[in-house]
This record gives sequence, C-alpha cells and structure tokens, in this order.
Amino acid sequence: LYRRIDSARIVRGQAVRHLRMSEPHVELVSENARGETFSHFAEHVLLAMPPRLVESQLTFSPALPSELTRQWRETDTWMAPHAKYIAVFDRPFWRDQGLSGEARSAVGPMVEIHDASTQEGKAALFGFLGVPADVRRRVSEEELITASRTQFVRLFGSQAENPEAEFIKDWAKEFYTATHTDERSSGNHPMPALSPSSGAWADRLTGIGSEWSREFTGYLAGAIDAVNRGLEYKKLKPSG
Ligand SMILES: Cc1cc2nc3c(=O)[nH]c(=O)nc-3n(C[C@H](O)[C@H](O)[C@H](O)COP(=O)(O)OP(=O)(O)OC[C@H]3O[C@@H](n4cnc5c(N)ncnc54)[C@H](O)[C@@H]3O)c2cc1C
Repeated sequence: LYRRIDSARIVRGQAVRHLRMSEPHVELVSENARGETFSHFAEHVLLAMPPRLVESQLTFSPALPSELTRQWRETDTWMAPHAKYIAVFDRPFWRDQGLSGEARSAVGPMVEIHDASTQEGKAALFGFLGVPADVRRRVSEEELITASRTQFVRLFGSQAENPEAEFIKDWAKEFYTATHTDERSSGNHPMPALSPSSGAWADRLTGIGSEWSREFTGYLAGAIDAVNRGLEYKKLKPSG
C-alpha cells in the first residue's frame, strides 16, 4: 500500500493539531517536533485515529456538533489502558520443563502471560499487568519490573531472574494512543457515528480508525473494516 502512494503525498513527523473549514477546502494545521506549523488542504478528511483522540487532540473550527464530540469522547480506545512487562532471554528455558509459557495468575502484578518468542529463535515472555493505569502512575517503573520478574521466577523458575533485557510498555502513557479517560475505560466496544450528519463538517470528515468498525471495533481487523466502511459510506472508494 505504502509503495502505491505517491511519496510526495506522504507527510511524516508531524502531528495534526487543528482542522479549519477554509472553503472550498479543509485546512489541516500540523506541527513538527520543533514546533513549526504547516498547512495542508483537502476536500475530505479521513480520521485514521481513535475517536477519543480526535476529540481530545484536535480542535475544529467551526466546532463539531456537541452530540458528536460527546459520542467520540465516550468511545473507549480498546486496550489503551493496558501495559505489559516484557523479558527477553537467551533461550526459552521454560520449555525444558515442558511449560508453554502461557499462564493466568492472581499473585503478582501480571494477570495474563504469554510466550513471546520469535520464530527466529529470540526467547521472550510477556505479561499483561492487572494493575490499573491510575495505580501504575503512583508506582515506580522499577518496582513494577521487580515485582513482575519475581512473578516470572515463581511461575517459570530461577532462570527468569536474569533476563537479557526487560521493560514495561505502558500504552496508557502514550500520548498518541490514550487519554486520561482511558485509564478507567469500560472495555466495551460502542459504535460512534462515522461522520457529522449536519453542519459545516457534514461532508468533510469521516472516521476510519478501528473504533468506527461495525464488526470488529477496536481490533486490528477493525482498522481494515473501518477504512472500507468509511470509504463506502462517503462513496470515496475507488472502483475496481
Ligand atoms: C496494548 C494493546 C494490545 C492490543 N492487542 C490487540 C490484539 O491482540 N488484537 C487486535 O486485533 N488488536 C489489538 N490491539 C488493538 C489494535 O492495536 C488497534 O485495533 C489498531 O492499532 C487500530 O488501528 P488504527 O489504524 O485504527 O489506529 P492506530 O493503530 O491507533 O493508529 C492511529 C495512528 O494515528 C497517530 N496519531 C494519533 N494522533 C495523531 C495526530 N494528532 N496527528 C497525526 N497522527 C496521529 C498515532 O500515532 C497512530 O500511529 C491492541 C492495542 C493495544 C494498545
């Protein structure tokens, strides 16, 4: 897909900040890491990000209808509150004992653990932390790592004591994934409106992030489904 798009039309290293109706176009104002701003002009904008991020990160001029922004704000970004502890080892030592590396645990910070070894032979285990995001913020990363490592030792043996590398990946702290509201999200998969139905933005914006998928909302498959749904909805899908 990437190769099929004219490289001159791909802009990287910029975050969109504002969308402004500037007839006959929509003006997107973006910003790079140095704080320099840029304007891009489009007939129609496809929002390929979670609805809650659209609502929290972008400003619209004129404002979007309030009912729509409420819906988008209340749509959880699936998995956004989650975090993992990942430990990389020189070999998958747990398999020597006939262990799969899969576990459910109620003792320690991790609740669901999987073997994350690669097909190329790099050995790793990871676990989803069951500690809620707002509690994690009050605990140091070092404490979480130590408690997670101890849990792996208890489950898989003393070799888990010395990983080659270990880290916590916390999506709740990722500005481009989660907002504060996601810290205690419901885990539901609601279905927000794709597009403003009236007003200045009615034919100018369509949501195509995974949360706008009807069938697989929030999942990877939903990201593809939502693109197809959004393009069909606004009859933007190229034929053939
Ligand atoms: C921890 C975790 C585990 C998951 N596990 C699974 C799983 O097992 N199975 C599954 O099916 N799905 C899983 N998912 C969900 C899956 O990652 C999403 O469904 C998928 O990434 C959605 O794709 P998307 O293209 O809609 O949005 P995203 O992948 O969220 O892409 C949105 C993009 O927009 C960018 N962006 C945000 N704000 C701006 C801005 N202002 N300007 C410019 N760019 C911006 C972001 O950086 C990002 O690159 C998981 C998600 C997480 C966080």
